[in-house]
Amino acid sequence: MRFAIIGAGMAGILATIKLREAGYEDIVVYEKAERVGGTWRENTYPGIACDVPSHAYSYSFELNPEWSHRFSPGDEIQAYFEGVAARHGVHERVRFGEEVVRCERLDGRWHLRTERGTTDVADVVIAATGVLHHPNLPSFEGMDSFEGACFHSARWDHSVPLDGRRVGVIGTGSTAVQITSALVDRVAHFSLFQRTAQWVIKVDNPEFSAAERAAFRNDPAKVKGVHEYLSRSFREAFSSAVIDADSPAMQAIEDQCRANLEDHVTDPVLREQLRPNYRAACKRLVASPDFYEKIQHLNAELVTSPIERIEPNGVRTADGVLHQLDVLVLATGFRPDRFVRPTTVTGRDGVNLDDVWREGPVAYLSIAVPGFPNFFMLNGPNGPVGNFSLIEVAELQMGYILQLLEPVRAGRCREVSPTWEATRNLEAERREAAVGTVWTTGCNSWYLDREGIPATWTFSFDRFCDEMAAPKLDAYELTG
Ligand code: NAP
Repeated sequence: MRFAIIGAGMAGILATIKLREAGYEDIVVYEKAERVGGTWRENTYPGIACDVPSHAYSYSFELNPEWSHRFSPGDEIQAYFEGVAARHGVHERVRFGEEVVRCERLDGRWHLRTERGTTDVADVVIAATGVLHHPNLPSFEGMDSFEGACFHSARWDHSVPLDGRRVGVIGTGSTAVQITSALVDRVAHFSLFQRTAQWVIKVDNPEFSAAERAAFRNDPAKVKGVHEYLSRSFREAFSSAVIDADSPAMQAIEDQCRANLEDHVTDPVLREQLRPNYRAACKRLVASPDFYEKIQHLNAELVTSPIERIEPNGVRTADGVLHQLDVLVLATGFRPDRFVRPTTVTGRDGVNLDDVWREGPVAYLSIAVPGFPNFFMLNGPNGPVGNFSLIEVAELQMGYILQLLEPVRAGRCREVSPTWEATRNLEAERREAAVGTVWTTGCNSWYLDREGIPATWTFSFDRFCDEMAAPKLDAYELTG
């Protein structure tokens, strides 16, 4: 079997390694950029880190004793993925600078075409194209008139000087909060444009000492123990809480966020401006060691009046104030519904994935789509994107895909795809289970689809593990 993997980020690297471990060697990875790393290659904004502890945010088979911090910075995470890819011979299989624009099912195989015109044929396609990949760009009046530098947080322009300048950031999500922590001390004036206040949980970020790292290096069981402990605690404290808005665990998270706000914001006016009017973790919870401390610095300003327009010298808000800026950062998030795009995927009988997904992306177990045989996604639509570590999810999904391909490998069929019946039933159940989760308690967030249903896994982690343990073959068509 020949495999084409789209994307050489966390999931594409994983897929390559796991396919090789399973004995498959005919693998090509198409990567639009010139380096592996996915989101960690693309996001280089000041302050970038992962708010999942580093010892948990690692492949289970490539634990890393050398993490510098509890929440290590983005460049270290990028280096980790590059190192893993190099150690496992991933780079040799990657065609860099090749964006797959077309993927068509013809005569029982997948025919691929890249933007450069390269063509290829594969039996199996694995789309490891990420979740939050396409920037969400706001369209304020006068955007083009701004005379300073303006860019999205995922397209950071490192040629633009920041020290001693007037910098504005639009947004209050995890990205904007990390940028705030990194920039307030560097710039002359910092303006944070808040449309909606966010709950912020305080997390400390200590450095691992040389002795601690040596202890991890000398005792692999110790690193494994920490990885397992963190993953388990996260599931117990968070994954089970978000699907039950009334649970004591959810209340405990909210109490911690409220205490962080009450204890660390001294000015009562600012405190109320920063106080959300919805449940904690309804939007993606923001974690920070020092956001409240930084936003109270004398050179920092929280702007809550809505943005009216952008002018040559800055941002004009509805209260008439012109916030003069040299640099404007759009930390305005991503388009989470743009799975697999811009690739045009045409399945059996010429059916286009865009048509199947007209009402929003859907997939059986977030992995496969009826009518698209041997086309699999890692971290695809409606998966556990807001509840568990995406690395753990991708590992479980990859194990599942390998099992699903066993009948093909054994020659019992040539292709596998889920039935519409199984897909529709699971989707209906998933939507029903959304009631009672914290994501539906009354806020706007990128989790919610057009109908206000969270586009995520609304069941428990155990259910996910059970589903991934072994494919239920009666949910699939084995053909050819
Ligand atoms: P986000 O959470 O979607 O936040 C976007 C922010 O921009 C929100 O505050 C939003 O306001 C604001 N916004 C969007 N359009 C606007 C407009 N037209 N006018 C004014 N404000 C506007 O995006 P993000 O911070 O980039 O984070 C996205 C996700 O990436 C996170 O939820 C998380 O899953 C992931 N992430 C993870 C880490 C990590 O450490 N693991 C770090 C960064 C990001 P509203 O709230 O009013 O919509």
